Amino acid sequence: MKKVYFITGSQDLYGEEVLKQVANDSREICKYLDEKIDGVEISYCATVRDDASCVEACLKASNDKDCIAVITWMHTFSPAKMWTKGLQLLTKPLLHLHTQANEKLPYDTIDMDFMNLNQTAHGGREYGFMCTRLGIKREVIVGYYRHTETIEKIKKFIDVARAIDLSKNLNVAMFGSNMREVSVTDGDRVESRIKYGWNVNYYGIGDLVDLVNKVTESEVDAKMDEYRKEYIMNTDNIDAVREQAKYEIALDKFLSDGKFNAFTDTFQDLHGLKQLPGLAVQRMMAKRIGFGAEGDYKTAALGAILAEMAKGRDGSTGFMEDYTYDFTKGEEVVLGSHMLEVSPDFASTQPKIEVHPLGIGGKSDPARLVFDGVAGDGVAVCMIDLGNRFRIICAKIELVKQPEPMPKLPVARIMWKLKPDHATGAAAWIYAGGAHHAVVSTALTVDDIRMFAKLTDTELVVIDENTDIAKFQTELEMLDLVSRLK
Ligand code: MN
Repeated sequence: MKKVYFITGSQDLYGEEVLKQVANDSREICKYLDEKIDGVEISYCATVRDDASCVEACLKASNDKDCIAVITWMHTFSPAKMWTKGLQLLTKPLLHLHTQANEKLPYDTIDMDFMNLNQTAHGGREYGFMCTRLGIKREVIVGYYRHTETIEKIKKFIDVARAIDLSKNLNVAMFGSNMREVSVTDGDRVESRIKYGWNVNYYGIGDLVDLVNKVTESEVDAKMDEYRKEYIMNTDNIDAVREQAKYEIALDKFLSDGKFNAFTDTFQDLHGLKQLPGLAVQRMMAKRIGFGAEGDYKTAALGAILAEMAKGRDGSTGFMEDYTYDFTKGEEVVLGSHMLEVSPDFASTQPKIEVHPLGIGGKSDPARLVFDGVAGDGVAVCMIDLGNRFRIICAKIELVKQPEPMPKLPVARIMWKLKPDHATGAAAWIYAGGAHHAVVSTALTVDDIRMFAKLTDTELVVIDENTDIAKFQTELEMLDLVSRLK
């Protein structure tokens, strides 16, 4: 199981008795957090009292591949020059928990001994200064550790830390390259490796075709049974569905053998495949594999990362594309979909397997899952490469039920409203350089994305109910200016 290390700050001046109490209180907090937070082990690492013990604890966390984050707590005052080297060596996301062993002050008995033992208010500021002075991106959470609000904040930090851990070890397979002439889906893969740890490599589609050709009829039969159990078979063209079943089996094998978390394909490079992978890709997305169409490796990677962040939460997360609008005044809504590849995570109705012609690509009619989308508050998130930096754009959106049935539309779809209004929201996204591809999630919030951007030191712009288009453009100009000064 992945671990979060808990490091407590103190110093030698207090004497052994106090340090023993500090360690006991730290263990008590760890035990409580560990019981309340699932999916990760929160373990007490050390009470640090000087330069050497800080370095030792931070190196231990940095070197442990199972450690996804570090929580630090200043029980007492901890002169922060001693933290300098340790923090410089720390490579894991950092949470500064500004809490106390006690909730209430013991008004009747409080004396100077109590004050010296319980001085987060004091020690947390000294430590915070050093983090700021070192330019360390961290999350600061203030609150009594047994309060539900505090626990919820820590859980969110751990969700983001887990996503960052995945990012650092993320493998993306690109079948084919970026779609010819398309700009926003492209990017600097070397820089992605340096900044986020993504290992993005190209494979010939022939490598996948080889696996497709090895799939046996009995494997396809078993897959078809799965499909019939989960979906409504709304087609007579069973051969086309069996073809996609082969793609799914081959993709599954390719991706699991190579430990890939995400992949891309492009309809311009399908030699040896009869259809554009549709149903097969949708099935992979349902398994939290990131996907980017047209060679969009950034969205594929972001999809895997945000799916990891959303793990265990209610809501849907997946690859999405802004397709077309309803411009009816006051009722404006975005219709989001793709040629085929919409994650069944978004389904509000039981998906139907259908086979229809595809206008682009000149291949056989592909099978796909068709369904109506979920409703609720969400975010649309994309990452672009501006040449000297990456930028994440995050828009608050409201997913809505489609106003009317669309009986002729042969793809899955979701619909959403922009904030603060359609014209401002769309213009802001375009001014920011936002892509037509995004990851949409009803499980994540702007705060989650903000924390991810902060901890990965990525530029972020947010579009929400408070966005003013003039101020927004000024913000973009300022960000350009700042990036040139860096
Ligand atoms: Mn697309």
